[in-house]
Amino acid sequence: MQSTSSNCIFCKIIEGLIPADIIVQNEHAIVIKDIFPKAPIHYLIIPKLHVADVAHLNANQYEIGTQLFCLAQQVGSSLPNKQDFRLIINNGANAGQSVFHLHMHFLSGMPHTGLTDVEL
Ligand code: 5GP
Ligand code: ZN
Repeated sequence: MQSTSSNCIFCKIIEGLIPADIIVQNEHAIVIKDIFPKAPIHYLIIPKLHVADVAHLNANQYEIGTQLFCLAQQVGSSLPNKQDFRLIINNGANAGQSVFHLHMHFLSGMPHTGLTDVEL
């Protein structure tokens, strides 16, 4: 598998070819502000390796999940309300995925009451 995809918007952001508001990054993943936020704090936690979605992770790529959780915890710990955030991954177009480079939504700053109270 290639590490980047030439027609992928998130790969272009990771490569610095397209601007984004970067919150934090490390060698494995980057956290950016979502361009159309659905909550007061709406970040995208994106692995630097191009993988389409969870369903396309190879067995030797499961550590990507750990790396995304690690950054979610790091970002969450810097919030005033610390523990109150929501993580969402859409897998596949019918589940609401629109950018086919695996990413985790990080939402905070508003009360969430159920699974369907935000459309991503
Ligand atoms: P999905 O619908 O695939 O789960 O989430 C994709 C997210 O990427 C959407 O919430 C959308 O607003 C965000 N997005 C799409 N294009 C860009 C972009 O160019 N920059 C940033 N920062 N976010 C984007
Ligand atoms: Zn990509």
